[in-house]
Amino acid sequence: MNNCIFCKIANKEIPADVVGEDVEFLVFKDINPKAPIHLIIIPKVHLGPVSALGGENKNLLGGLILKAKEAAANIGVSDSGYRLVFNVGRDAGMEIEHLHLHLLAGKPLPF
Ligand code: 5GP
Ligand code: ZN
Repeated sequence: MNNCIFCKIANKEIPADVVGEDVEFLVFKDINPKAPIHLIIIPKVHLGPVSALGGENKNLLGGLILKAKEAAANIGVSDSGYRLVFNVGRDAGMEIEHLHLHLLAGKPLPF
């Protein structure tokens, strides 16, 4: 999709600190981290936020969550814990329309 920052990161048109990649998903560090560890997990194809998805997307959504679990294991926070967040819409402060999952970890997180 034109002008989507996360599509550009997925296509390697703009740089990001990538920590994991497979055919379907990319995992990279958030540019403005809100916790000691803050990763973003995206599908490489452009999909809208959770509010725009339907049953046809359920396999990809499941894969996205499992990719976050794998990233958590790779960075060694499976036991200490982590938070997975989908921001959806204005009141959640969503900035980027490309579907993405936040992984926050590295300290006890305030709710
Ligand atoms: P949202 O509020 O849409 O759920 O979160 C978007 C996240 O993407 C924010 O935490 C923001 O810091 C991060 N972000 C925005 N632009 C870039 C970028 O160009 N590179 C990286 N690595 N992260 C970005
Ligand atoms: Zn996109």
